[in-house]
Amino acid sequence: MTTAPAAPDVPRYPQDFAGLTALVTGGASGIGAATAALLTARGARVAVLDRDPSGAPEGTVPVLADVTSDAAVQAAVGEAVDRLGGLHILVGNAGIGAIGTVEDNADEEWARVLDINVLGMVRAARAALPHLRKAAAARPGSASITHTCSIAATAGLPQRALYSASKGAVLALTLAMAADHVREGIRVNCVNPGTADTPWIGRLLDQAEDPAAERAALDARQPMGRLVTADEVAAAIVYLASPAAASVTGTALAVDGGMQGLRLRPA
Ligand code: NAD
Repeated sequence: MTTAPAAPDVPRYPQDFAGLTALVTGGASGIGAATAALLTARGARVAVLDRDPSGAPEGTVPVLADVTSDAAVQAAVGEAVDRLGGLHILVGNAGIGAIGTVEDNADEEWARVLDINVLGMVRAARAALPHLRKAAAARPGSASITHTCSIAATAGLPQRALYSASKGAVLALTLAMAADHVREGIRVNCVNPGTADTPWIGRLLDQAEDPAAERAALDARQPMGRLVTADEVAAAIVYLASPAAASVTGTALAVDGGMQGLRLRPA
């Protein structure tokens, strides 16, 4: 008789978000979906705002909006608040990539990417803040905004002028907002992922001549020899939004496998 293989342990998440409500922009894929799923697993009621909410994780409330429309974001945040019964946590995560030097992208492309990556965060925050203020008053320590920024904000990456400028703006926005809202009891932080294994990276690799070889080369370039996972970035976002981070505001948490902090000698 053969013995059945042991089932892996299902993580037992603390229910430390019980009674809390959250909205994740860009929550239908990659880092946002992992964050929405983890917040849900830890007891939060979660809405996912996305221009294509079809991939919103099970148990979340999908709301359709493109973050380039202020009216659509206002309406979607209003719908989320109605359906969740309030809003304690905003995760501003929706964003897109852009490759090239300043000579490669015309003004129209700069305007398009900045509209999504920077103004998209501003619009979500503007719509959420009145609700976060109420949440902070009703349950001190519960209100927060966490942005998905990038190590591109400070790393000086080649071929990423527009993307880096957009994330540099998100970092500065995060710090300024943290100052503006600290006395209202609303914390504002960001995470800086390195290269994270999400459908976005999959799409980039698919454009390569040999995607598997390109993926192996990408892994080999990472200090840990592998990409950061979406779940690892989500865990950092959820920490920053959690009661455990009640005194953490105006900070950028790198989740990059050591890409920025380590000074490794070439092998
Ligand atoms: P992804 O493409 O897997 O997911 C992005 C999600 O955002 C999608 O569901 C998409 O529909 C949504 N979205 C995009 N534009 C939108 C818009 N205009 N309005 C509404 N929704 C929109 O990407 P990901 O890798 O999970 O990236 C999420 C965030 O993480 C982005 O802000 C990105 O800049 C940042 N980031 C990613 C990496 C990485 O290596 N993957 C590294 C650093 C930072």
